[in-house]
Amino acid sequence: MSHDYEKEYEAIKAQDPEIYETLIGEEERERTGIELIPSENYVSMATREAMGSVFTNKYSEGYPGRRYYGGQEFTDAMERIAIDRAKQLFKADYANVQPLGGAAANVAMYFALMSPGDTVLGMDLSHGGHLTHGHPTTEINQVFNFVRYKMKDVDTGEIDYEALREVALEHKPKIILAGFSAYSRELDYAKFKEIADEVGAYTVADVAHITGLIAAGVVKNPFDFGFDVMTMTTHKSLRGPRGGMIVVREDEGIAKKINKAVFPGMQGGPHMHQIAAKAVAFKEALDPSFKDYAAQILRNAKAMEKVFLDANVRLMAGGTDNHLLLADVHSSLDITGADAERVLDEVGITLNKNMIADEPRTAMEPSGIRFGTPAMTTRGMKEEQATRLAEIMIEVMQSKDDADKKAELQKEVQAMCEQFPVPEKFV
Ligand code: PLP
Repeated sequence: MSHDYEKEYEAIKAQDPEIYETLIGEEERERTGIELIPSENYVSMATREAMGSVFTNKYSEGYPGRRYYGGQEFTDAMERIAIDRAKQLFKADYANVQPLGGAAANVAMYFALMSPGDTVLGMDLSHGGHLTHGHPTTEINQVFNFVRYKMKDVDTGEIDYEALREVALEHKPKIILAGFSAYSRELDYAKFKEIADEVGAYTVADVAHITGLIAAGVVKNPFDFGFDVMTMTTHKSLRGPRGGMIVVREDEGIAKKINKAVFPGMQGGPHMHQIAAKAVAFKEALDPSFKDYAAQILRNAKAMEKVFLDANVRLMAGGTDNHLLLADVHSSLDITGADAERVLDEVGITLNKNMIADEPRTAMEPSGIRFGTPAMTTRGMKEEQATRLAEIMIEVMQSKDDADKKAELQKEVQAMCEQFPVPEKFV
């Protein structure tokens, strides 16, 4: 049964037609195109209801049982449920569900574990690290000192652990940060932990992208290797609302510092509607069906990997062990990442241009594209569809000026969207 959007947005339509138009436009865009941005997904109607719920009215500064405002009977109960579910999902003793997003979670974590001027050893940004890992344009870069590790070989994705150790010994970082937004292999968490122990650093994994894969147990959980903290987003592979979270393996002292850094250190009133939506999504992720979903994400990524490798398209790290792929389309298909993003959009496939490791071009006209399978897998697509989509992507990039070809492929993409509608319920 398809959702009645007219009904859902009835009040907005009557009161604010301009915003109503944008909502319906986005509904249409999301349903009639294939979403391959690896950091995006579709939430269930239950999660959306919680996100648009009465909890948006409530101020709840503080934590359950210790708030600065009255009337917390239901917010306390709800946040406690969210925390319990988060702890179960990640095998954590402590969870802070209040960070507004992944960037906010990282900044709070830095202030919790360090003093200004201290050093973080993180993944080089051009090798897959995130802006919040100390990009020169970010404010946090003015507060803390960021040093880098890289891949040893960009065509296998192997991290240069020897160089990582040398940098750690030289700079004595307070935090060794594992984690990425454009890297497709598993990390050797045990190795990170060994080096961190040698220099007395905290181990933190920013698992923003692979949150759902860790929760489902289809990729490694850094806590199984003794990591101290994980920061994350809830809206990517975990399939929850836009938001952030910090979980702590077992150290109560660290958990207390994290709580203080989030509130009052960084944030004011928590977004209780967002926390309610997180709780709903966590319950969905605790359902056994979520494991099947996450395993299918990996199989679909492997199916796409095969098509690209068979067509001799260079994949960064040589392929993927997770949900995302990074292709050097400029050297392989003679198209820039920006042009690829644009022509694929014309046929209804959304992804993003991306710099490849040691990018020789510019950020706005890079060599690569980044794409991934969480959202298309939510639609119920399997290896057959992943394979065909990858073939279509290559055909489109090879026929970027052929209007007839693109029109034909757009119809095929459209038909796939109709065959695999965005579901409203996951459990
Ligand atoms: N950390 C990593 C590794 C990410 O990939 C992202 C988002 O892409 C973030 C942090 C920031 O998350 P947000 O956009 O929710 O602030």
